[in-house]
Amino acid sequence: MTTWYEYLQQHGTLPEWPYPVQYDQEHVLSTDVLVLGGGIAGCHAAINARRAGVDVIVLEKEATKWSGNGGAGVDHWLSACTNPCSQVTPEDFTRQVVQDCGGYDCGPLRYINAREGWDALLDCEQMGVQIRDVRGEFAGAAFRDDETGLLFAYDYHARIDLRVYGHNMKPMLHRQLKRLGVTILDRVMVTGLLTEGGAIGTRVIGAMGLHTRTGAFVIVKAKATILATGLPGRIWLFSTEYRPTFRDPNLTGDGTAAAWNAGAQFAKLEESYPDTGTLAYLAYGVGNAHNTWHGASIVDANGTEVPWVDRDGRPLQSVEERFLPSPGQPYMVGHGLRVPTTYANHVKQLAPDLPDRIRRGEIVLPLYADLTRLPAHERRAIFGLMVGNEGRTRVPVYETLTRAGFDPDRDRLQAPVMHPEAYAHANFWAGMAVPHWRQWGTGGVIVDWDLRTTLEGLYAAGGAIYGAGAHSSAAASGRYAGRKAAAYARTAREVTVDSQQIAREKARVYAPLQPEGRPIGWKELNAGICRIMQDFCGQYKTATTLQMGLRLLRELRESEARAVAAANPHELMHAVECQSIMTLGEAIMQACLARQASSALLNFVRLDYPAVDPEEWRVLVAIRRTSDGVAVEKLPLDYYLRPPHAPTYEENYALHAEPAR
Ligand SMILES: Cc1cc2nc3c(=O)[nH]c(=O)nc-3n(C[C@H](O)[C@H](O)[C@H](O)COP(=O)(O)OP(=O)(O)OC[C@H]3O[C@@H](n4cnc5c(N)ncnc54)[C@H](O)[C@@H]3O)c2cc1C
Repeated sequence: MTTWYEYLQQHGTLPEWPYPVQYDQEHVLSTDVLVLGGGIAGCHAAINARRAGVDVIVLEKEATKWSGNGGAGVDHWLSACTNPCSQVTPEDFTRQVVQDCGGYDCGPLRYINAREGWDALLDCEQMGVQIRDVRGEFAGAAFRDDETGLLFAYDYHARIDLRVYGHNMKPMLHRQLKRLGVTILDRVMVTGLLTEGGAIGTRVIGAMGLHTRTGAFVIVKAKATILATGLPGRIWLFSTEYRPTFRDPNLTGDGTAAAWNAGAQFAKLEESYPDTGTLAYLAYGVGNAHNTWHGASIVDANGTEVPWVDRDGRPLQSVEERFLPSPGQPYMVGHGLRVPTTYANHVKQLAPDLPDRIRRGEIVLPLYADLTRLPAHERRAIFGLMVGNEGRTRVPVYETLTRAGFDPDRDRLQAPVMHPEAYAHANFWAGMAVPHWRQWGTGGVIVDWDLRTTLEGLYAAGGAIYGAGAHSSAAASGRYAGRKAAAYARTAREVTVDSQQIAREKARVYAPLQPEGRPIGWKELNAGICRIMQDFCGQYKTATTLQMGLRLLRELRESEARAVAAANPHELMHAVECQSIMTLGEAIMQACLARQASSALLNFVRLDYPAVDPEEWRVLVAIRRTSDGVAVEKLPLDYYLRPPHAPTYEENYALHAEPAR
């Protein structure tokens, strides 16, 4: 590989843009089902729509083969309640998790995950992903079912979370898309939705996008569209240099912003979480006991072991107990489901008073993950199966540490040395969060039992839906939404696109080619937006700070944002991303203004409304853009189980699910 230094030494100048630049070109296509985002949800959606016999196009900003948060792999397949060994029904599981989330969770999404997650995993197995211990490497382990070869995680009794060899998940999904004849348009960034009459709140009839290498404009007319562009990022924090990023940094919420601009209704936009940003270490690459490393023994500088405790704080006597429910606990819900940590079905954890123990000198830094204290199967399940298949750990952690000589049978892996408070949670690699550095919570579009948004023609799957779960949730909801969108497309009428809407979008997208005033770069703009979000929409909010933040974002749009210049299609993409980030910043602040109460369940602090989760605010703040501002309504948390819906998840599913093919 050549470094920039070497390149400049050899050539004396920067390279030219390597692709033909086609800002003047327009590519127009049409299809039955259009999938926005070729990530986990998008791939499953496209596969299932295609299997239902309709034409499908996928628009993907990166390269579908490796893109998105699930692009680098998966080690945990969660909530597979219908697998042959499961001890929990989808109905019971969904009721419990929704309750653990204080009701602020999307019931249909959660149930579809529990009900179809296992089916989606079987689909992946057929495509070539290994989901069982076929070679018997874990024969005799407590987490292995000998009949099926399935390997379980977290709760070895409930057996709903699986350990899988998912490092090649995206290449296998990509191959299946090609096999089925799905049209994949990689390197096309969706920037806006096409709507009937070009108006807000009308039927969605396709999307528009920018080719990120050629700069050509892409228009896809569709009978049905599925939003699957994942979780937004870079809203509060932006660093291209120093941050070992966990989430895919290309995810800037352009699809979410497009749905907002089109008038779709959203929930939970006011929820956000502290993020460790540049303080984070390489994910799962230092000693820790979280998620992928769940169950690891942690010892201090003197070899004293940090106790593991159950949900009631009782110390555990054995390693085996780390994977079994507490007395009176029906089952444990694993990490990664984005369920608050205060819930009753908490997994076993390290003693939560670890920071105090460090302060008192009982536990002496530095800490180490000591896998030698685990039974051999558990040791190799962590440093082998899990670290070898989890996203972004196979190469940087497993292969690099192994090459450097790390041997889990013999060696300990050191944890970072930090402020004692940073050890309050077992994912030590995340460092200590700064309150005003934040990340997107579980906000997203509101859906019904068809996984349709509030806009006709627009379906959603995965992280785009509020309350979204994890990889299996994205797969299962994509699977379901693909079938529903195909069924709708079969009967939907064709609608002519509005040429003025296209002209408006092109003017917006290409504006950075003709910047106003003294040009600035997109990075400055992204950093400026983040600063506004940190200062005016950080941990502690008031109506005054939020109003000021909205004003500053508006002013930024009208001043610096117009000065952003793009020298090539790649920079143009980033400039347009900043527009998406500003849009979402505004949507978030509007939602924060609308919720006039604090909420522990939403990690939401309004200094001017200190009452925490009062009864009248135990609702979803359902918010959407209109032609003259925003409209807010209070939606009952369980809107999906109230009349005219049936009272149980199972009945609603039976009424709505399309048969899988
Ligand atoms: C490192 C890592 C490890 C993880 N490990 C696990 C695990 O073991 N188990 C688990 O359950 N969960 C895991 N997760 C979470 C899981 O990966 C996500 O829940 C899942 O990927 C969500 O799927 P999605 O399709 O909604 O989003 P993604 O998979 O992120 O896909 C979104 C897609 O949309 C594309 N896109 C975005 N914007 C645009 C645009 N404007 N135009 C076109 N395309 C666009 C993106 O490029 C991407 O391909 C992990 C996440 C990370 C980051």
